[in-house]
Amino acid sequence: MEKISVVISCYNEEKSIPLFYKEMERVRKKDFKDIEFEYIFVNDGSEDTTIDVIKELNKKDKKVRYISFSRNFGKEAAMYAGLEASEGDYVTLMDADLQDPPSILRKMYDAIKEENYDVVGTRRVTRKGEPKIRSFFARMFYKIINKMSEIEMVDGARDYRLMTRQVVDSIISMKEYNRYSKGIVSFVGYKTKWIEYENIKRVAGETKWSFWKLFKYALEGITAFSTIPLIISSIIGLIFCLVSFIIIVFIIVKTLIFGDPTSGWPSLACIIFFIGGIQLFSLGIIGQYLSKTYLEVKRRPIYIVKETEKSK
Ligand code: UDP
Ligand code: MG
Repeated sequence: MEKISVVISCYNEEKSIPLFYKEMERVRKKDFKDIEFEYIFVNDGSEDTTIDVIKELNKKDKKVRYISFSRNFGKEAAMYAGLEASEGDYVTLMDADLQDPPSILRKMYDAIKEENYDVVGTRRVTRKGEPKIRSFFARMFYKIINKMSEIEMVDGARDYRLMTRQVVDSIISMKEYNRYSKGIVSFVGYKTKWIEYENIKRVAGETKWSFWKLFKYALEGITAFSTIPLIISSIIGLIFCLVSFIIIVFIIVKTLIFGDPTSGWPSLACIIFFIGGIQLFSLGIIGQYLSKTYLEVKRRPIYIVKETEKSK
């Protein structure tokens, strides 16, 4: 019998998990009579009773497995841990807040089985229920990153996707510390089908993504999958060299012809500030890459496990 692993990353989701489990079980009993399941709940260092809720489920239901981190490592790390632990022939990643509807899982499974896809991803076509300003920045981000990176990032793509074992193994083989999963899945490639749906509000609790967290995540995406910013700062540097060379020649000629009355201090001060700014900006860009490299070179573990269902 074939097996599907459902990986659910959970950070402070005590209210959502029971609702998620109920809905997932309903769908499983209705649509997947012929398929075995395992649910892997990854507790990403929650501060509430999430782990107790999961353990409770594990006692009742043998299908429920769990991995509990020693602290909050972020959703990327949680998904990675889930993928590593998964044993199914197919693996799907879901949020605990039911924003990734289990009801379309059968459709995704059929696309893999009957249409020979390797991955079925989901996309939100609307961003309803999200702050306007957040949607605006998200759109901008996708425009920018798709110009800068050779890898295509799909706007509105969610982490909710169903993958074959082969795809999962490819993703696991990417052991980078700075994980940007949208880039990673595009990087590994494979034949992908997209299913679209409208944004759904989370069932309980609150979003864990502050604007600042999202901003840092966006920078992660850019530095992890593009080196264009480095090229841009080199080009700006080159242009400035050329311009200053022309100005130097101009000033020499002017002084030779008209003499040298001292003037132009304000403009000089402006130029110094401007160039100083550009230099710091470029240094900052280089620093971003350097810091990512630094973390990568340290080879720290992506996550640390405190306990699992096996460690009883
Ligand atoms: N999540 C996580 N670790 C974190 C932040 C979030 O495992 O540090 C989980 C969270 O529990 C949820 C999923 O990632 O299951 C998506 O988070 P959320 O719903 O807050 O994000 P949004 O849907 O608002 O983008
Ligand atoms: Mg959510």
